[in-house]
Amino acid sequence: MKQKILYLTLGCIFSVIALACIQGYFIYNTYLLRAKEANSAITQKFLKLETDGKLDSINNSWMRKTFSFFEKYKRGEVSKDGYLKLIQQTGDSLSPVMNHYIEKQNFFEGYDVSYSNYVISATIVAPGQKTGDTLFAGKALLFGNNTDGTPETQASQSNWRGNNRDFVNCLPSGDKNYDFEVVTSRYYSIANWERQVLYKLSGLLIFSVVLLGFVVLLFYLTIKNLIRQRKIADVKTDFINNITHEFQTPLAALDIAVKTLQRKDGGLSAEQNNNTLQIIDRQNKRMQKLFSQVTQASLTPEADKLHELGYEDVVEIINDFRLSHPEAVIHFRQETEGTILRMDKFHLNTILVNLLDNAVKYGATQVDITLSGNNTATHLTVKDNGPGIPAKEQRLLFDKFYRVQKGDIHTTKGLGLGLYYVKRIADAYGGHAAVKSEEGNGAEFTLLLPV
Ligand code: ADP
Repeated sequence: MKQKILYLTLGCIFSVIALACIQGYFIYNTYLLRAKEANSAITQKFLKLETDGKLDSINNSWMRKTFSFFEKYKRGEVSKDGYLKLIQQTGDSLSPVMNHYIEKQNFFEGYDVSYSNYVISATIVAPGQKTGDTLFAGKALLFGNNTDGTPETQASQSNWRGNNRDFVNCLPSGDKNYDFEVVTSRYYSIANWERQVLYKLSGLLIFSVVLLGFVVLLFYLTIKNLIRQRKIADVKTDFINNITHEFQTPLAALDIAVKTLQRKDGGLSAEQNNNTLQIIDRQNKRMQKLFSQVTQASLTPEADKLHELGYEDVVEIINDFRLSHPEAVIHFRQETEGTILRMDKFHLNTILVNLLDNAVKYGATQVDITLSGNNTATHLTVKDNGPGIPAKEQRLLFDKFYRVQKGDIHTTKGLGLGLYYVKRIADAYGGHAAVKSEEGNGAEFTLLLPV
């Protein structure tokens, strides 16, 4: 059974991990897909922006300036270096205008989008020639609103080829009749795309986590329940084994005694007859005691049986116990004079005898009992120098049929009922029973009863 639970636990852990991995994989793929979708939708939107002619006024502005610069350059009025300066000046003035067209946040579904246009090269070519005079090569910003320096992705590139007659419109491709060429490249960037995609996936993410949590909870409850059931089954089996064992001895003795009495031959002397009858009587009482231990009929206090018990009564119970356990060293001390326990003597007897019996049974050589009280409560403490009780067992100690498992359960006889009755009686009087113990250092049971 233990192994079954172990396998089941391992199976559950494995299933949860596998489920989490599969879910993680799907979510990651959805994440990539969403990111890709957003990227292509944004690229499309930029293309539309360019083809719609919305950026024409900005483009015309720098193209016009470039064209007149080329004219001046050809006339020798400006030098090559002047072109980069011109681009930089143009960029400074056009970028704010650009911002007006692309409001970062509102451009596409809350994505923090920026757009930049760069001049990659500017060349003046003699008509019909392939190579020409390069005025600039590199990457100079014409206009853009990527002020945070977010990594950019190229969206498109274009070659503006023109001549004196037609400076703005690109000449048809294949037309060699151009005398300048400007290559520009457009880039876009999304500053917050990870956050945005995650935000859009948040519903799915939360649902997955909740679902996984729910599965883990279900597994946990199932296994916990199984372990609890197993414990209950073990406890019951132990109880049945123990009670069978406990009844076996008196039954066997009774059997022998009855057979002795039935023996017709030989005849028994009066003494033998008496001894046999005493055996029957003792075994009968033992069985009755066992029976009452199991059923323990009256644990509730009855008004007419309540008495004010004190020092003398405790001493009497201890002395009776000493008769059957002469080897036990029992000290009793009353800490506060005149302490009173208002209870049924049978109950006080059950509590004390059960605690003393346990102390001796589990190997203590000395037991110290103290009785103390104040205005509100009376304390009865039974402390022994026995083997003590492991901390993890103490929580269950007062449960019905519970016995601390130590190898062979039958080495010390018991039904796991003694402490259960101690607690039941304490509860019935509105008090409580507690244990303090360290393994190897004895145990101290305290009974607190309200005055
Ligand atoms: P039983 O003694 O019949 O097994 P109890 O309810 O009296 O049942 O005790 C429950 C368990 O608590 C015992 O099995 C024993 O392991 C542990 N126990 C009780 N009293 C002591 C003690 N004084 N010292 C060590 N162990 C104890």
